[in-house]
Amino acid sequence: MEVVVLGSGSKGNSALVRAAGSALLVDAGLSARQLRRRLDAVGQDPARIEAVLLTHEHSDHIAGLRVFRRRFPLPVVANAPTLEATERIVGESLDGSVEQATGTCLEIGPFRVTSFPVPHDAAETVGYVIEAEGVRLGYATDLGHVTHLVHERLASCELVVIEANHDRQMLLDGPYPWATKQRVASRHGHLSNDHAASLLPDLARSSARAVVLAHLSETNNDPLLALAAVKGALHAEGLDAMRVELARQDAPAAGVAV
Ligand SMILES: [Zn+2]
Ligand SMILES: [Zn+2]
Repeated sequence: MEVVVLGSGSKGNSALVRAAGSALLVDAGLSARQLRRRLDAVGQDPARIEAVLLTHEHSDHIAGLRVFRRRFPLPVVANAPTLEATERIVGESLDGSVEQATGTCLEIGPFRVTSFPVPHDAAETVGYVIEAEGVRLGYATDLGHVTHLVHERLASCELVVIEANHDRQMLLDGPYPWATKQRVASRHGHLSNDHAASLLPDLARSSARAVVLAHLSETNNDPLLALAAVKGALHAEGLDAMRVELARQDAPAAGVAV
């Protein structure tokens, strides 16, 4: 199984998951044009994507959905509150969508997809565990803190995409208005580099062999700081064997396969 983060950050998020000749998208927050371009760049035929899973309805996760589906009418998979909120925002009904109650499992082609709740300020934000070919990918961006459930779900995965949104000091010192800083740093906002760094040694000791750090803020983070925090935490516990990659906003990240 391979994950290619097509783009990630506050300007748009989408990831491609491939296994057994099939594929899924997680979120469609890049423009439809960028989605097509980047899928092309990584050699993925959009017509062969089984579905798009939504984590939540914030615009950086759904911005390209409506236009992309005009050309490629793939089913949208999400829980009912997220589907409703998304339909309200895009201003039309998402025909052929599939409702997946949070916490349940859905078979889509070769994939077994299970969602889990994460703490974030949208209708009902989820992360996903996607299983295929005997391995699991855990996907969690847009969460204010790591709950026991999030920890437990990600600990079962060989491959992990986790948010490293901001450096706490850069957020404090940065240009955001105070209310926005509070929102980002809150327990329903976004994970800091330190949050990600304190989680990863545990994941490396359980199942994880590779991680992609995602949703890095261009304003309140520096990729080198995110990498240093996470690699430092792994190194301190002798877990350097874990592969750490960074997602990018402006281009697809390196594909990571397990
Ligand atoms: Zn987001
Ligand atoms: Zn969000």
